[in-house]
Amino acid sequence: GNYVIDTTKPVIISAYVAEDHYSQQAIDEITKSLWHLNQIRPVGVPQIREISPEDWMEAWKAHYPIIHAGERLVIKPAWLAYSPQNNEIVIELDPGMAFGTGLHPTTRLCLDAIERYMHEESVCLDLGTGSGILAAAMAKLGAKQVLAVDIDPVAVSAAKSTVERNGISDKVQVLEGSIEKATAQYDFIAANIIASVIIELSPRFQEIMSDEGYLVVSGILEERYYEVALSLTANGLKPVDLIQESDWIAIILQK
Ligand code: SAM
Repeated sequence: GNYVIDTTKPVIISAYVAEDHYSQQAIDEITKSLWHLNQIRPVGVPQIREISPEDWMEAWKAHYPIIHAGERLVIKPAWLAYSPQNNEIVIELDPGMAFGTGLHPTTRLCLDAIERYMHEESVCLDLGTGSGILAAAMAKLGAKQVLAVDIDPVAVSAAKSTVERNGISDKVQVLEGSIEKATAQYDFIAANIIASVIIELSPRFQEIMSDEGYLVVSGILEERYYEVALSLTANGLKPVDLIQESDWIAIILQK
């Protein structure tokens, strides 16, 4: 949703689909979402070429820039050099196959919310941590402790290496699993997961939030906003802010 494409010239869009996610249905969904979100219509049948995970990682590395998010955060790919300016906080990443490069609006909305709503010394939960990018932002912005969980073992190992790379292992614990691993009262929770999962988990958030705590839910397409907001408010949470980038919405809530 972020790129302006010169429609007077032919454009090739290549989409990488992990082998275990590949199916004709996945290809149809990508084609459909490109059309719905960006009015990009395929001209002919998509071409499919198999590439190894190693080639995939090298291919996208070539296009992964240094990203600025919120007021102070800088996401730096591990293989690029950067000298921080003034009060900037640098997170070094090599997400590999995990989601969470900082390139996607849903991640940037969370980074923005963390900067604005997370207080220093907060006890935090990063639900669906992916590369560990949000957990790293929480720790580097002064959280007391962070629990990062993900159901995907690939994400868990990427998040663990993000934690080591950024020297924050004294603050961040990474576990495979989901909300059942959350056993504390959290002052700040980030959940950048798709709408259906947020709806499914919505009865649980209130129980694990401290009285003044904040929850940010992201990964919500505009068309599913009301459904997600209704499910969270029906479960005792009240929205205090809403932030949006292109078609993606993040809601910030309290008890
Ligand atoms: N937090 C990163 C970010 O903001 O860029 C990654 C977000 S990515 C959109 C969503 C992550 O949630 C994926 O890594 C996925 O494996 C994980 N996930 C999906 N369903 C989950 C669930 N029920 N519990 C925990 N993690 C889940």
